[in-house]
Amino acid sequence: MAIQTLNPYTNKVEKTFEAATSQQIEETLQKADTAFQAWRTTTFSQRATLMQRAGDELAGNTDYYAKIITLEMGKPLAQARGEVTKCAMVCHYYAQHAEEFLQEEDIRTSALRSFISFEPLGTVLAVMPWNFPFWQVFRFAAPALMAGNVGLLKHASNVPQCALAIQEVFDKVGFPEGCFQSLLIGSQEVEQLIKDDRIKAVTLTGSEAAGAKVAAVAGQEIKKTVLELGGSDAFIVLADADVEAVAKKAANARLINTGQSCIAAKRFILEKPIAEAFLAAFSKNLQKKKTGNPLEDDDIDYGPMARVDLAQELTQQVERAVAAGAHLYLPGGQPDPDKALFHPAILTDIQPGNPAYEEEFFGPVALVFIAKDVEEAVKIANDSPFGLGGSVWTNDVKRGQELAKQVEAGAVFVNAIVASDPALPFGGVKKSGYGRELSYLGIREFVNQKTIWVG
Ligand code: NAP
Repeated sequence: MAIQTLNPYTNKVEKTFEAATSQQIEETLQKADTAFQAWRTTTFSQRATLMQRAGDELAGNTDYYAKIITLEMGKPLAQARGEVTKCAMVCHYYAQHAEEFLQEEDIRTSALRSFISFEPLGTVLAVMPWNFPFWQVFRFAAPALMAGNVGLLKHASNVPQCALAIQEVFDKVGFPEGCFQSLLIGSQEVEQLIKDDRIKAVTLTGSEAAGAKVAAVAGQEIKKTVLELGGSDAFIVLADADVEAVAKKAANARLINTGQSCIAAKRFILEKPIAEAFLAAFSKNLQKKKTGNPLEDDDIDYGPMARVDLAQELTQQVERAVAAGAHLYLPGGQPDPDKALFHPAILTDIQPGNPAYEEEFFGPVALVFIAKDVEEAVKIANDSPFGLGGSVWTNDVKRGQELAKQVEAGAVFVNAIVASDPALPFGGVKKSGYGRELSYLGIREFVNQKTIWVG
């Protein structure tokens, strides 16, 4: 894939970039390695000062960074501003908490003293996607750098200016050279990078296919990986839920980031007594959503998808689902096959065996299922290769919590839309990946959890 900025709204190529040469890749790796030797010896307070400043830089210039995001991947500007603000928050969060999360942990044994010391690993390679092109990177970089590691980013090929702007944030606030670098390369270069001795671990956020490939190479090299992959989150509506209110939330949950979010609700599982009313209200709410030019129109709910080929792929997924017996309840779709715009759509009557029953729909298409009772709803929710997030909607909060435990996912929300929070662990089970980001668990992924015994 060409490394370029292509405005998905206008279809215009704004800027193209040369991929890094092998000599530049070598220089980058060397710089990272040198930086690590010094960075690992810094104190938490020194790191925190810089990370706090990185957060301040983002918080003070949200508009500047948000425009780069919107230009490259098309999300409405207001949502891009929200993304930048959240990145500031995660920088501030780890500036404040990293020391506490990684303090030595004494464990009583027969030793004079025995304890766990959390020590950095070295250069961590981050392979990242375009959908939240700042957030996915900062939620890795803030804890990794605070732990004393250094970061090397291979960003998605359609967001090179985001990649460079993120490095600019760290450089500008005074992180030592080499602590965080963006390498503009295609995905075919990743294997060699993982094999390089100077790369100690890899984190990937992206598709199942990319995750499997990267983890296979890392496995051969015995290097630690964290994988944040796809999701097909269930949104379970029980018969006692407030249909009108929840249908509004459902439309928002499906349209997060123009439907291109790993934790957007994708499968809406409705208990039979409310199914018909809910579906009508849900459809009405989706049709009310507005689109326009994401860089100029402030009052819009969704932009174009991030690339034309992604919209075309989604159209084909819908066509395959319909050919296999699904019903297109709300047609939506691509008004022009050569443009990235895709209006919200709803598919119903999706039986096991239909490709839509198993696949992730990474765009504004809602998959609706009707369950005869709660047990069947949970069964459908769990009958998926993915296990990232999920939500349960009911007036009985206690029952909601019990059901939350039965859903096979890394996070289940009761009466709220699934979202990430710096304080809470984020990650999946099944084909959604492994490992956790955020919280105290996230910062402990890329450290040597070393036992020290004093006799
Ligand atoms: P993608 O195609 O897997 O791309 C993600 C990153 O992996 C890009 O940097 C890409 O580089 C690189 N890549 C692709 N194939 C590779 C390979 N064979 N070897 C090494 N690197 C490779 O995913 P996407 O289409 O951008 O993103 C959508 C997917 O990400 C969805 O499945 C979504 O659910 C998932 N996602 C998960 C999370 C989470 O936290 N769990 C968050 C966001 C998105 P190029 O751009 O150069 O190809």
